[in-house]
Parts: sequence; C-alpha cells; structure tokens
Amino acid sequence: MTDFLQQANLGVRTLAPYQPGKPIDELQRELGLTRVVKLASNENPLGPSPLAMQAITDMLADPLELARYPDGNGFVLKTAIAQRFQLDTEQIVLGNGSNDVLELVARAFLTTGDEAIYAQHAFAVYPLATQASGATGVCVPAKDYGHDLVAMAAAITERTKVIFLANPNNPTGTWFEAQDFADFMQKVSGHIIVLLDEAYGEFVSDPDALDGLSVLSKYPNLVVSRTFAKAYGLASLRVGYAAASKIIINILNRVRQPFNVNSLALVAAAAALNDDDFVQRSRELNDQGQQQWQAYLADLGLSALPSRGNFICVDFGKPTAPIFAALLREGVIVRPVANYELPHHLRISIGLPEENAFAADAIKRVLAASGESR
Ligand SMILES: *Cc1c(COP(=O)(O)O)cnc(C)c1O
Repeated sequence: MTDFLQQANLGVRTLAPYQPGKPIDELQRELGLTRVVKLASNENPLGPSPLAMQAITDMLADPLELARYPDGNGFVLKTAIAQRFQLDTEQIVLGNGSNDVLELVARAFLTTGDEAIYAQHAFAVYPLATQASGATGVCVPAKDYGHDLVAMAAAITERTKVIFLANPNNPTGTWFEAQDFADFMQKVSGHIIVLLDEAYGEFVSDPDALDGLSVLSKYPNLVVSRTFAKAYGLASLRVGYAAASKIIINILNRVRQPFNVNSLALVAAAAALNDDDFVQRSRELNDQGQQQWQAYLADLGLSALPSRGNFICVDFGKPTAPIFAALLREGVIVRPVANYELPHHLRISIGLPEENAFAADAIKRVLAASGESR
C-alpha cells in the first residue's frame, strides 16, 4: 500500500486539523441530555440579523436562485461594504467566511522558505494556513496573554512575508491600542503583508479603539479582515471579507475560487451589514453578559482574561480537561484551549442571560464535586 501521508505536501504531513466546538445534537445523542447549552464557538446567541433573515426568505421565493451560480463578483455586497466604509469596491475581496480570506493571503503570499509571524495564543488558523502553504510559522511569545507587538516587530527577518494580528484575539479576548499598532507599522517594511483580523471588531465600543478600515489608506501593505459570522449572526452561511489596497485585492482574487460565497450568504450579509439596530443589540447583550459573568466568576473564585470579544477565557488554575468533560455531562459545551497553550483555561462564549446562568451553575457543581473527590 502506498503511504499516502508521504505523498502529501511537506507542510500538510504534520498538520493537525482545526478542532471545532462539539455540535449540540452530537452531545444530545451521546448523553441523552434534554437541555444542552453551547457556548463554544462564539456564535451570536440572538441568531441572525432579522434583516438578513428577510433577505434570505425573499430570495427563496424564487427557487431558481438556488439553481443558479451566485454572483462571483459579489457586486451588491461589495458595493454595500464600500459605501459603508468609504472604500472602493476594488479594495474588497469576499470570502467563504473570513477564514477563507486568511487562506487566500497564505496561498497568494507564502511558500516554502518564507516565514509568517503570529503570536502565541493567537487564532489557530494562522499557523494552519501558514503550514499548509509550506512556509515556516514564527510564533512570538505572548505578553500578558496578548500580542507583544514590540517582540513581533523584532522577529521580522529577510524571510518574513506575512504577519498575522488578531484584534481582539481569539481565544484570549486580548487587544492592542491604536498607538501600539501605529508604532508597530512604523517598524514593518512596506513589502510585508500585515493581516489585521477584526473578527470581533463590532463588539468593541471604545471610540478610541483601533479601527483597521479607517487606517487602511495609510498602509498599502495592510489587509483588514472581518466576518459576518459573529456580530451579524451568520456563522453557518460562511461569509466574510477583507479590505486592502487594490493591487493586494487583485492578487487575492487570483487565488480565490470563482464562486466562493453562495447567493444566500451574499444577500444576507448585504442586509445584515446595515442592520445597525441588530448589531447594537448584539453588542449590548454581550456587554451585559460580560458583566453577568464577572459576577459569576467572583462568586466561583475564578478569574478571566480581560476580553473585548463575545467570549471570556477563564483561568481554572489547573488542567481543564476533566472540567470540560464534566461540563459536557451537565449539558454545557465550552471550548478547551489546551491546543492554544492554555491548558488551565476554558473559553466560554457569552450567551443569553439564562444560558450564562445555566453554564455558571454547572461550573459551580462541577468544581464542588471535584473539590469533594480530592
Ligand atoms: C471566528 C474567527 C474568524 C473566522 O470566522 P469565519 O466564520 O471564517 O468568518 C477569524 N478570526 C478569528 C480571530 C475568529 O475568531
């Protein structure tokens, strides 16, 4: 028998697949649970934007829309994004989720011999995309669990082609300030692509926070990615985008699948983009949930990293694999982050108030039981 692993590309051979959160129905099947609360994938607990739902319903009125290929140029959605952020449509590339956009950057700019820099505890797709491209990942140790931008700039070599930054970062929720980013960009030569991932940007309410799209014109090497999966509640439809200078977008379009975003996603995202009311409700719910969790954590004697995302990364002070497993038996799905070098933490997405309460109760029982068994 052929050893097909040896036939795979070098970077792919040692790749570990991305581990998604456990699906609700799988857990229900396995354990016969009646109530399961999933706070594992940073999804929007409010569901999708109602305007997006309406756009989908309208489109489904004509079944031929599903039989036809989608608009491979995403004209309507790109126009909506361009208008909203005062960009040119040629500065925008759409992705099958922003994950797709990250991979386009890796495929277009990275190959064997190149280096890509990212931070310790940063989003798992950066090392995955880097390694699959054959390039070498350079993981820079975190500072207080967040990106150490000074150390990241110092890690640049002649081989560096791409730098991945997440602001806020997943799974830590950490962020960096606009001034620190400006100082960082000063040190990065203009031929290196800086991918600024703002998947959680809509949850950030601080008016002084870094806003990648508003500084795009200053940096021809900056690519800002955003998603409709989180604040807009469209994770299942898979749609995101990146904005950058026209030449970079032109290059990314060369490696993009012609029809990478489906028709339902295109109309839903265009409607959701301007559903300010929904995004505001999502942000407010998230802020309240963050406060609710602060109170629960104080009660539980636990702490979490400061987070600007729609999740918290909770420190249990000991290996969390047994806690994660016990929570599953309670019907609560959270996210282990040992694969992010955070074996003592669990990431918990902010849910509806009653979901947060259900999860906090389960944690309390699980910690009490593990205390007794000691
Ligand atoms: C969720 C997430 C994404 C990707 O989301 P898509 O569903 O692919 O749009 C990108 N970056 C970070 C940091 C994320 O947490």
